[in-house]
Amino acid sequence: MGFFIRFARQWIAGETLEDAVEQAKKKNRAGIGAIINFLGEHVRNKEEAEKNTQENLRIIQAIEASKLRASLSIKPTQIGLMINKDLCLSNVEKMAEAAALRNIFVWIDMEGSAYTEDTIEIYLSILRKYRNFGIAIQANLKRSEGDVRRIAASGGVIRLVKGAYREKKEIAFAGRSEVTIRFSKLMGYLFYSCKGFAIATHDWALINEAIEVNKTHGKELEIQMLMGVREELKNRLVKQGLTVVDYIPYGKAWYPYTTRRISERKRNILLILRSVFDI
Ligand SMILES: Cc1cc2nc3c(=O)[nH]c(=O)nc-3n(C[C@H](O)[C@H](O)[C@H](O)COP(=O)(O)OP(=O)(O)OC[C@H]3O[C@@H](n4cnc5c(N)ncnc54)[C@H](O)[C@@H]3O)c2cc1C
Repeated sequence: MGFFIRFARQWIAGETLEDAVEQAKKKNRAGIGAIINFLGEHVRNKEEAEKNTQENLRIIQAIEASKLRASLSIKPTQIGLMINKDLCLSNVEKMAEAAALRNIFVWIDMEGSAYTEDTIEIYLSILRKYRNFGIAIQANLKRSEGDVRRIAASGGVIRLVKGAYREKKEIAFAGRSEVTIRFSKLMGYLFYSCKGFAIATHDWALINEAIEVNKTHGKELEIQMLMGVREELKNRLVKQGLTVVDYIPYGKAWYPYTTRRISERKRNILLILRSVFDI
């Protein structure tokens, strides 16, 4: 297991908030913004959801105290969505209030499709009162075109992603190229319907497409990538004057996050095998 933890560390700042703050400072010095995420998901116990909410509030305070160019990203099932939707909403509200007071932006990560509708409803409900909120939308889900329209019409802010969860073919587009086409289509819609939005991808073709199209539209475009992935590209984009943001996770619950990263790229599996068998 030791090698696996070492392997996971390339994508994770460490176990503590202090580790994440240090990583965010390093990124800020390089001209890159930060999104801090406390790892953990699928919580079924109220006390744990409360503890996680408190940790997320600590992130908001740390961003202010360290004067970071950073936002927070939260996962609804970490703060109560599996227990009940109202509990989750009230926990999100606590963060919304604390973040709004400090002018800090909060993103809601999108998890598996079982939670999509509740997550969007929570987001739209928060958006009525707080504007410092954005939400991830997954290009691989067939429903996403409708969701993008719904959120754009409410003045919401979208982070477009390909989608990290395995979904049934009845509800999702399968295959890399199909998902990339859907991403491009949704991005085209965002250019026409929003003041600004984020694309979260390491796919150069999509990033380049966004940069080129934005030369005409002049929207507030944020390019988000994961910590430990394509560092040279991030630096190159910053030099071109683009807004680049690094997603920085920390905490002890690194396992599900790491397995999602591994499954995204065959080469990662090869690297693990190499470190085990020394090949
Ligand atoms: C900031 C951020 C937030 C996210 N939030 C969510 C969320 O809320 N919900 C969700 O479902 N998903 C989320 N994701 C994950 C996302 O859905 C994808 O699973 C993930 O980003 C991989 O897809 P990709 O767009 O990078 O494209 P891929 O098709 O995986 O990769 C495209 C290309 O990028 C390059 N590349 C990819 N990885 C590497 C690497 N390690 N090193 C070098 N090159 C590489 C390769 O050239 C590859 O061909 C998020 C991703 C990011 C970056």
